[in-house]
Amino acid sequence: MRIGIGYDSHRLIEGRNLILGGVNIPFEKGLLGHSDGDVLSHAIVDAIIGALGLGDIGKHFPDTDPKYKDASSVEMLKHTVELAVSNGFEVSWIDSTVVAEKPKLFPYIESMKKALSQSGILLELINIKAKTNEGMGFIGSGEGIAAYAVCLLKKV
Ligand code: MG
Repeated sequence: MRIGIGYDSHRLIEGRNLILGGVNIPFEKGLLGHSDGDVLSHAIVDAIIGALGLGDIGKHFPDTDPKYKDASSVEMLKHTVELAVSNGFEVSWIDSTVVAEKPKLFPYIESMKKALSQSGILLELINIKAKTNEGMGFIGSGEGIAAYAVCLLKKV
């Protein structure tokens, strides 16, 4: 068994779609990023790479690489799951938390799990929680959104 932790945050700006967990969520702003800015997918990718002991997301998906410009982060997650498999591991469990003051994410949790399962991780092995930051800090002011994820890998 291996465990990994992932964290990510991105800035909210106007003129971008808000993509979280592979789902396009109706909101007046979206997350700035080289890819689609999907903090939840990025946190999960980093948790898996961490559990593999293979560095971090930036090493595998450099934000200077034109290949990942506006890339779907679920695709990045899919590549990461393949990386785990090629190293002899499978995902046993993903737990995650998205911290966003707005919008309310609860109605989208099931859709996110479904979208993230396109990566090859079984839907029933993904848990997603949503919280606000009680109005405090950069999240509370609506400046950005953050996500945390933990991954358990099992040697196959
Ligand atoms: Mg990111």
